[in-house]
Amino acid sequence: MNQYPVYQEPLFRPPSEAHSAFVQATLGCSWNRCAFCSMYATKNYRVRPLEEVVRDLEALARWMPSCRKLFLADGNAFALPFHTLKAIAIEAHRVFPQLHRISAYSLARDILAKGEQELQELRELGISLLYIGVETGDAVLLKAICKPETPVSYREAFSKAHGAGISTSAMIITGLGGRLFSEAHARHSAELINELQPKFLSTLSLFLPEGEKVYAARFKGEYQPQTVLELMGEMRTFIEGLHLNATIFRSNHISNSLPLEGTLSKDQPRLLAEIDAAIMQEEQSPSGRFSGDAGY
Ligand code: SF4
Repeated sequence: MNQYPVYQEPLFRPPSEAHSAFVQATLGCSWNRCAFCSMYATKNYRVRPLEEVVRDLEALARWMPSCRKLFLADGNAFALPFHTLKAIAIEAHRVFPQLHRISAYSLARDILAKGEQELQELRELGISLLYIGVETGDAVLLKAICKPETPVSYREAFSKAHGAGISTSAMIITGLGGRLFSEAHARHSAELINELQPKFLSTLSLFLPEGEKVYAARFKGEYQPQTVLELMGEMRTFIEGLHLNATIFRSNHISNSLPLEGTLSKDQPRLLAEIDAAIMQEEQSPSGRFSGDAGY
C-alpha cells in the first residue's frame, strides 16, 4: 500500500485546478511535437497501468477524503481509451465519495476518437471538463507550430464534447506566430473561439524556456519576435473580435501589468478599456521587445 501517490515530475496542471487532487493516468504527451512546447520533452509518453493509478487514488483519498475535484494528468490524459477512462472514473468515485468533477487536458483528436455514447457515459461518470490548447485559430499557423489540429477538427471536437454535456476550457497563446502572423492569429483565433463558445477561455503568453532561437528553428515559417506594444495590440484585436455568450475569460498576462479577467458577454468593454490604458502607458514608457525566454 502506497502512503503517498507516486508522481513523476514534471507535473503540470491548469491554474484553476490548484485545489484539485491530481493523479497521473498517463505520463507525457502522446504528441509531444508542438514547436513552442517543452513541457514533456523529458518524458516518453506512456499509459500507466490501471492498478498503479488506483493505488495513487487510494493514497490520495487518505489525504484528501473529501476531495470534490480530480485532475487527470499528464499532457493529454483524455487520449486514454474509453474503457480505461471509465474504469478510472469508477475507481475515483469509489475512493472519493464526494467527487463532483473530473477533468483532463485533451487534444481535439482525443475527443473525436470517442463515440457520442462513450462521451455521454464519461460525462455521466463525472468527466465534465476538458482543457484544450487551441493555441490559434489560424490554419497556417497551426501547421507552422506543428500542432496536430485544424480549425475544422476543433469545431468538430468542441461540438461533440458540448453535445455530450462536457464543458470545455480553451487556451490561446499570445505572440505565438510573431510579428508576421500577429494580425491573422488574433482575428482567426477570435473567429474560431466565437464558433467554439467554450465555457472558459484563457490566453497565455508565448513562453520559451529553451530560448527564441530554438523556437525559430522549429517554427515552420519566419518567426519575428514582437515588442510588448505589438503584443498588446494583438491582444486588443483578439478581444475586440470575440462575440461570446457566457464564456469566462482569464489572461495571466501579456505583460505582468495587464492581468485580464471577466465574463466576455458583459465585461468586454471594460477589458478593452484596460488594454487601451496599458497600451497608452506602454507608449509613454516602452518596456521594449518581448522576450519569451526571459519574461519582461
Ligand atoms: S499537444 Fe500540448 S502538451 Fe503536447 S506538445 Fe503540444 S502543447 Fe505540448
